[in-house]
Amino acid sequence: MALLEVKDLKKYYSAGGGFFSRKKFVKAVDGVSFTLEEGETLGLVGESGCGKSTLARVLLRLEEPQSGSIVLDGTDLCALKGEKLRRRRGDFQMIFQDPYASLNPRRSIYSTLEEPLLLHTHLDEAGRKERIGELLDMVGLHREHAGRYPHQFSGGQRQRIGIARALAVNPRFIVADEPVSALDVSVQAQIVNLLQDIQKQTKTAFLFIAHDLAVVEHISNRIMVMYLGKVMEMGDVRLLCSTPAHPYTEALLASVPVLDPAGRGKKKRLTGDVPSPLAPPEGCRFHPRCPYAEKVCMEKEPEMREIGPGHWCCCHFAEKSR
Ligand code: SF4
Repeated sequence: MALLEVKDLKKYYSAGGGFFSRKKFVKAVDGVSFTLEEGETLGLVGESGCGKSTLARVLLRLEEPQSGSIVLDGTDLCALKGEKLRRRRGDFQMIFQDPYASLNPRRSIYSTLEEPLLLHTHLDEAGRKERIGELLDMVGLHREHAGRYPHQFSGGQRQRIGIARALAVNPRFIVADEPVSALDVSVQAQIVNLLQDIQKQTKTAFLFIAHDLAVVEHISNRIMVMYLGKVMEMGDVRLLCSTPAHPYTEALLASVPVLDPAGRGKKKRLTGDVPSPLAPPEGCRFHPRCPYAEKVCMEKEPEMREIGPGHWCCCHFAEKSR
């Protein structure tokens, strides 16, 4: 059984309407299903507004889903409330995009790292001190800097503190929401390498969210591509990046600014903007931007199909992969 099993997860927001007109909803997450194994990294990509961050918040039970299930280690997190949910929170943690905004400027690093230990462990003061030292070692910061405050660190160092906080109580699963996009390019690689090293040691599963496919490609075992609240394609990172089956994945790959050994530049690039999530297009929601769209695409919504072992695609014309 997978460590995490997410089934048909939905999160809708009310967007007006009522007595005299039909209620409108933004379907931010619209029937998302996937699994995640221990020690695995699943990369989640898509343009802004595709539902990535909402999915992250729902997975972490920061928002209530409309329906669906999130089963972690055999327990449906959606069924947990109050004290039961609070006790399980240590098992699933988040690394935020903006480390500065996510750290309390009035708290020392020691106090920031001590908080989850006080909430989720029975460690005494000496035990907490030792664990905080271990965490700082793990993320490459000096133990003697524990008394400092967030403004005394660089952006990359602050993200290391955010990572240490997420790791404090040995979570089974971490959502990293664009954890490097606010950092300088030179620091991004260091943080990505750090996350990979930590994963080797701890076997924590990661859902790694990014709008940049190049970063996700480097760190992930599998990739999930989202568009307007739905998963368009999911599969092994090498297969998906070398022979994408969905036109949206192909377009995302074509926009990655790399020297082009795989001929990515010849693929069809993405044009136009993401349609309003208040009124997603009929049929295939990608059809107004799809260079391969045909009549059926405007009339009938494609279903997610397994087109090869572990390779899923939501396109009428996706061909079987190996
Ligand atoms: Fe394009 Fe049609 Fe496939 Fe949608 S179903 S991605 S519009 S070819």
